[in-house]
Amino acid sequence: MPLDAAVTTGQPQEGTQSAMEILALLARALVILSRSWLPHAFALPYPREAQSALDRVVLYCMAHSVEPPENLPALVGWCRHRTIGQFPVRPPSRLVPPEARLLVPETGVPTRTCAELASYGRHGLVEQRANRLMAHIEARCPTPSLFRECRSFLLTHPVVPDGRGGDPRVWEQVRRVYSPAGTGQLLCTGCGLPAHRPTGGSGRNAPSVPCEREDCATELPPPRVDTAPDGALLLDPALRTFLCLTAPTERAVLTGLTVHGVTVEPHEPARSLFRLTSPAGQEPRLLGVYDRKHPGLLAARVSELLSHVDGTLIVAVPDHHIRRPGFREAFESCLDVAAVPRVRLTSPAGLGRPAPLSHHSSEGAPCVTSHQ
Ligand SMILES: [Zn+2]
Repeated sequence: MPLDAAVTTGQPQEGTQSAMEILALLARALVILSRSWLPHAFALPYPREAQSALDRVVLYCMAHSVEPPENLPALVGWCRHRTIGQFPVRPPSRLVPPEARLLVPETGVPTRTCAELASYGRHGLVEQRANRLMAHIEARCPTPSLFRECRSFLLTHPVVPDGRGGDPRVWEQVRRVYSPAGTGQLLCTGCGLPAHRPTGGSGRNAPSVPCEREDCATELPPPRVDTAPDGALLLDPALRTFLCLTAPTERAVLTGLTVHGVTVEPHEPARSLFRLTSPAGQEPRLLGVYDRKHPGLLAARVSELLSHVDGTLIVAVPDHHIRRPGFREAFESCLDVAAVPRVRLTSPAGLGRPAPLSHHSSEGAPCVTSHQ
């Protein structure tokens, strides 16, 4: 089922096709407005995506007898102070839950929900930017092995504290995707990604650190914030979200497969796609590693990928996501019908028991079996 067709609005049957497009357009506009090289983004004329998002939201509100935002700052204010469930256009909760937000209220920076929505559809721009940056680095690297070294560096370095990478051969290829962190940039001690100081409470009652990963706040011991040293560099935000966040899962899954004797080779490393060995004559088996807040949007990405590659795809996500109530159900219900028999959703914990490569998968060992 196309994702758009599942979107609900106050008027069933009316405008349902455009509702998801409006949210995705709004998310793209917020990402563009957040870029620091647009200091006058709120001055007329607005950036094209922002003007287009404002137009679509105002028209939608007028068509549905809802008071529209007065201007772009007012629309951004909506996104900062309202949950998606409080918007006039709402996706069903299995796509994006009503409590999700597009902007962090305290800072006004785009959330992971915003980045994932802004990557939805053929006009998506955040995940696509991450893929494009990686493809550029791959094209510039003189050897595949050097690209693998570059990718490993980027996976584990959302921040370069001293402003210099270790290996000059690697740094020469990747330094273009870093920029100055700025004075006083705070970093989460849990994930290493940018964070901001929590508001309210102190001592034992201090609230958890809000960081870009958005999941660290629930971990024990709770992370703190450290100030990045002067001269530190930050990785491009698209790569922080769509590459660095996958690093622990990728490491765990690849290690688990190796322990079970499964050979994994790079397939499209710029997009975190790997290839498992298959007996001659069998369809290829691919492995994709993802860390996404919203399983419905992940299903859209996977369906799009499978529309132009052959074989089956193992979709590996972090254990804490697959344990979330409704995550698997939402993912599977949002897959295209044609993709369903070709996809297996799993996590590092799903690699608990080895299984013969030629057998159907079973609970506990879904990653090393074929899907027929
Ligand atoms: Zn964190």
